[in-house]
Amino acid sequence: MNNKIKYNDLKTPVSIEENRSPLWEKIFAEAVRDPEELCRRLEISDENVDLNPTFSMLVPEPFLQRIKPKDPLDPLLLQVLPRKEESVLIPGFTTDPVGEDGHLSPEGTLSKYHGRSLIVTGKRCGIHCRFCFRRHLSFPGTKKTDIPVCFAIDPERIAARFMADPTIHEAILSGGDPLMLSDRQLQDLISHLDEVPSIKRIRIHTRMPIIIPQRLTENLLRFLGNNKRYGRTAKMIVVLHVNHPNELDSGVSRSIENLIDSGGILLSQTVLLQNVNDNLPILSELFERLIDLGVIPYYLHQLDRVAGATHFEVSTKKGGDLITKLRTRLPGYAVPRYVREISGEPGKVVLK
Ligand SMILES: *Cc1c(COP(=O)(O)O)cnc(C)c1O
Ligand code: SF4
Repeated sequence: MNNKIKYNDLKTPVSIEENRSPLWEKIFAEAVRDPEELCRRLEISDENVDLNPTFSMLVPEPFLQRIKPKDPLDPLLLQVLPRKEESVLIPGFTTDPVGEDGHLSPEGTLSKYHGRSLIVTGKRCGIHCRFCFRRHLSFPGTKKTDIPVCFAIDPERIAARFMADPTIHEAILSGGDPLMLSDRQLQDLISHLDEVPSIKRIRIHTRMPIIIPQRLTENLLRFLGNNKRYGRTAKMIVVLHVNHPNELDSGVSRSIENLIDSGGILLSQTVLLQNVNDNLPILSELFERLIDLGVIPYYLHQLDRVAGATHFEVSTKKGGDLITKLRTRLPGYAVPRYVREISGEPGKVVLK
């Protein structure tokens, strides 16, 4: 690799005044971070809102525009607005429900499952989902804080780790959101991974194309696709995190279409959330819309029991019934596997 970049060199926040940052970074910088302001914008009461939450609020404009004003129960709003209910403590809901904390390697990788290794690329996300199972996690090299910080991952060291373990065939970029890295950082990481002969697949788990579709710039699309002409040998797989059909507006649809045009394999994952998507019409519409865009619904996740998210939980009985009904309504390939993460298990447990 020529042109090697150290992540430590790239920690300086992008200055907006300079006008050199891409549009998506500006959109991110201008996201609404004050719950009171969000309520004012959407003309809803802040009565049950936590105005000073420990897990900070973050809602960028393109997502905000898909929220219906004056509707406190809007399914997109429910995913982002900190509510007083978050402080409700229920036994069994913990700060590290999937047992990740402390299992990261010094390089920021997590090799819990056979043949696959997850790389934690940072703690930055384009949005803060209130139900996120990582909302309490601390990562090596960062303070236990919700302020977006770039994680000092070092592609060279990560590649060296995979070189030393040829049983790993798939590198999974997770986070935070890997697409919060700059194009340069991503390109650097992907090229290093691609130089490891045993890595056959590179998978990116992201919510960014849904949250800030402007993130899928032409430049990024060039190296996210599977075109041999970009000189990559590992196959690229992108898994989109999407929970409700209202998240798929025209801007998002266009971005997804561009991603498909670039030749990437596209899958989706959804978290089953009370009052957001726990009903048959919404889930069928979501999965059908995804299929029509060319995205295969991969996982429907049972909520991880993270402290602060108790009010999002749907019973596995109800979840299972929904899946059974979806199977009679939709083509088989449109119905995702309903899974749950169980601490210490060697893979996700398929519930249905
Ligand atoms: C979910 C997950 C994976 C990937 O699992 P797949 O079933 O292959 O999608 C890998 N590592 C960790 C830690 C995970 O939680
Ligand atoms: S985008 Fe994913 S990792 Fe980030 S807050 Fe939402 S659920 Fe959590």
